Amino acid sequence: MNMTDSTAAQNKASKPNIAFIGLGHMGAPMAENLLKAGYSLMVYDISAAATERLQQAGANVAANPKMAVANAQVVITMLPAGEQVLSIYLGEDEQATDGLLANLPQGTLVIDSSTIAASDARKVAKEADKLGIDFLDAPVSGGTGGAIAGSLTFIVGGSLEAFTKAQPILKSMGKNIFHAGANGAGQVAKICNNMLLGILMTGTAEAINLGVKNGLDAKVLSDIMLQSSGRNWTLEVYNPYPQVMENVPSSHHYKGGFMSKLMQKDLNLALQTAKEIQVETPMGQRATQLYDEHVKENDNKDFSSIMAMYDKSVLN
Ligand code: NAD
Repeated sequence: MNMTDSTAAQNKASKPNIAFIGLGHMGAPMAENLLKAGYSLMVYDISAAATERLQQAGANVAANPKMAVANAQVVITMLPAGEQVLSIYLGEDEQATDGLLANLPQGTLVIDSSTIAASDARKVAKEADKLGIDFLDAPVSGGTGGAIAGSLTFIVGGSLEAFTKAQPILKSMGKNIFHAGANGAGQVAKICNNMLLGILMTGTAEAINLGVKNGLDAKVLSDIMLQSSGRNWTLEVYNPYPQVMENVPSSHHYKGGFMSKLMQKDLNLALQTAKEIQVETPMGQRATQLYDEHVKENDNKDFSSIMAMYDKSVLN
């Protein structure tokens, strides 16, 4: 063993073993970045193709979630929605008797990066707390590009102690790591941001359509609004009208980017959260209605394709 090998081995030995469950568009590149940072990984996914990719990258593959966490000090999940997160951690009866939490030793750090309802995150956190397990809700922003580049933003809810413990691990997958508050706060902050993004995207599409239908050029109008008080993130880096900007989904038939069905999911989570505490979100409601309608035919197109709700020709 040369010096570099022995340093790498020491480095690995000082790092916790991680179980990573959910290796989809986001989870797979996140897990790969943990491997690159020198962590030992045991992975699990219901899809064999997903685990194969990680095996090739150097992870060990478990046959089921319980085997995945057998030697883990840290568990990370990146699952589609609350339903899968509740079922994995609490079990089918949601009484926390046959789920993963019941199989973890005290002191295990559990990080769920899926985007789910804050109420579901708090439910898992409450059971984890009873068992002496540290739970963090840590949804991400930055999409698949950020997951691949290791530049995700993590928006974390949970105790400061658990947050501090998680920092080096999250830094291997992300750039900006925010502590939003207690359990559930990560999910709340994430859906506040995405509700605003959905509103900004529909509003920008609406304004551009009004101008174009009045004979204006979409790029000229966008440049004017960009230097005026309507300026916002979508005009700066993600214009929804084709050929106004290069290298954005709208100029490539709305391929790639952030799928409309994921924006619809996040908007509906925002409405659910608002309903639970009886807060009015009229703009969020209208944006949700538009996305609910839009995804019927465009679920896999980037969310900027909401432009087509105003002008169908942009899809040609
Ligand atoms: P995805 O559907 O690509 O991946 C989910 C993975 O979980 C799949 O590989 C699936 O096989 C696996 N899975 C499902 N049920 C399982 C179970 N019971 N046990 C083990 N594995 C299971 O989803 P994604 O795009 O990677 O998104 C994951 C989460 O991140 C979602 O909550 C999403 O809202 C959020 N998110 C996604 C993006 C994005 O751009 N894709 C951006 C930010 C946040």
